[in-house]
Amino acid sequence: DKCVIGVDIGGTHMRCALMDRKGTVLAFRKDRSRSDEGPEALTRRLVQQCRDLLADGGLSNARLGAVGLGVAGKLDTASGTILFSPNLPSLAGFPLAVRVQEALQVPVAMENDANVFGLGEAWLGKARNVSNWIGVTLGTGVGGCFFANGRLWQGDRLGFSGEIGHMIVDPQGPECACGQKGCLEAHASATALVQGVRQAQKEAVPLSDLLQEALRRDQLTAHTIYRAARGGDPVARRLFARMGWALAVALSNLFTFLGISTAVIGGGVSASWDQFAPAMLDYFQQVPSMLDPQSIHVHRTELEDRASIYGAASLAWQTVDRR
Ligand code: BGC
Ligand code: ZN
Repeated sequence: DKCVIGVDIGGTHMRCALMDRKGTVLAFRKDRSRSDEGPEALTRRLVQQCRDLLADGGLSNARLGAVGLGVAGKLDTASGTILFSPNLPSLAGFPLAVRVQEALQVPVAMENDANVFGLGEAWLGKARNVSNWIGVTLGTGVGGCFFANGRLWQGDRLGFSGEIGHMIVDPQGPECACGQKGCLEAHASATALVQGVRQAQKEAVPLSDLLQEALRRDQLTAHTIYRAARGGDPVARRLFARMGWALAVALSNLFTFLGISTAVIGGGVSASWDQFAPAMLDYFQQVPSMLDPQSIHVHRTELEDRASIYGAASLAWQTVDRR
């Protein structure tokens, strides 16, 4: 029996899992993605993690059928190269899939991390029996995918599709890592939350002790801001409300254009659902549009942080089956 490894490389973390056909996780490891170390170091750590996973699962290399990689950014999947990545800038131009394939001597398939999230949701998650839907991942960046008639939309194969994070929701809005202004990512990512608190600090807006302490220690994260919002900090609350608003604007534009009404939201920051979802859902209810508020279904992932590794594994299985 063969197994596969599914890998999710996001802006901050990489998660790897050894899986069987049914999606049973036989071993799991997590590490930082650390773009600043450069692509060679990242590849070395990734390859080592794959070997460690096989050891954890008590399997020999011969049992590994393929590796599936989900990587944040614009990719040339045919040549296994990363073209551009707002949050992993050092990987631009790097043939990651080729290098991992050389090191492990198994086929390696690569897809955008949010597209891979969608494959996972379609396989084992909320989108299991949904034909037409949008996936959104909230993390260091904001990713997206679109499934049409049950299949992942690949567009003209320009190396990207479903890049919802770089749709502009406010042309006067904050700067984004991609070079534009006012992208969804600049309102709804972990990065945007942290930036928002730093901006408030600069403007001398009063902040709760929790946020002040985190700023002092240079340890401000989206999770701290979430805790601050739960504790009633007005800046944190406003940032989550802005995030919900921005998500609703992007989704209602896409729902209106495509004539669909279902989305699934995942990624690490989706754990803050109780803080941003009310503003998002209110928008659909209250802003008049051609959409029928009753038919809109925006779900929170039920797979926690596993959707992307499931999707990466399903990509790997596709590769095994094609041979
Ligand atoms: C990138 C996407 C990626 C998303 C989530 C965005 O900044 O452009 O390709 O899917 O972040 O990692
Ligand atoms: Zn952008």
